[in-house]
Amino acid sequence: MHLVAKSIEGTIMLADFRGLSKHFNGVLALDGFSLSIERGEIVGLFGPNGSGKTTFFNVVSGLLAADQGRAVIKGTPILRLKPFQIAQLGISRTFQNLRLIRQLTALENVMLCFSGQSGEELSNLFLRPRATRNHEEENRVRALELFERAGLREKANASVHSLSYGQQKLVSVLCCMAMDAELLLLDEPVAGIAPELKERMLSLIVTLPPEGTSVIIVEHNLDALAQVSGRLVFMNGGRNICDGLPTDVLQDPSVIEAYLE
Ligand code: ADP
Ligand code: MG
Repeated sequence: MHLVAKSIEGTIMLADFRGLSKHFNGVLALDGFSLSIERGEIVGLFGPNGSGKTTFFNVVSGLLAADQGRAVIKGTPILRLKPFQIAQLGISRTFQNLRLIRQLTALENVMLCFSGQSGEELSNLFLRPRATRNHEEENRVRALELFERAGLREKANASVHSLSYGQQKLVSVLCCMAMDAELLLLDEPVAGIAPELKERMLSLIVTLPPEGTSVIIVEHNLDALAQVSGRLVFMNGGRNICDGLPTDVLQDPSVIEAYLE
């Protein structure tokens, strides 16, 4: 039987990643990395290039097999599951290179991410065409609400390749939200985007915890990270070096020595 773990304060633990290790031909990308996250928490994850942040995301989203360790979401171990099964359990991620379908509109990209699309079943298209159309219409309305929320309504029907890089990054986060994820893994969501879109991205991210959604953000921009995160984790050499309140972590000697100087 799976039990939902409770932390000492009585808040609900959503996911727990323990002692994760992963090596690539002698390079130890993850070296016993551990991190846990509660419901509705935003954790900012930072560290030098090559410290293992993206590898951590790849392992817990099922794209890479870990050599060792344990990863549990809502009581269910996930390391042996396929990416789509992990996504169904509520972990969804963005990629540094976004992975949107550039020929489709922004809205169509987000609509593809809703689960249980009746049009996917070919038989539905022939046997229940009206139900399928109604379902698609509902998804269109839900997707448009997400675009409103991101301040991007006017771009919903534009094709993805006509959007700026920052607008595409917002769309990739909307895709995660459309998947009804309970844990979003965002890989550098504000890196390289215009200041106005950066604010819009951060404002969108902080709307997630009140809905019970948790977020792990990897980001080099520490100001942005501290602005939205209740907790920061400093990662180096594949390990969790320092984990705590942003003010404490940013003043930690290991962070100052390895990252800020
Ligand atoms: P970060 O995202 O923190 O910059 P990564 O997780 O991308 O770091 O990389 C951690 C280490 O693992 C680096 O030394 C990187 O070169 C190595 N690495 C990551 N992915 C691969 C891979 N697919 N094949 C070989 N080495 C990799
Ligand atoms: Mg990376």
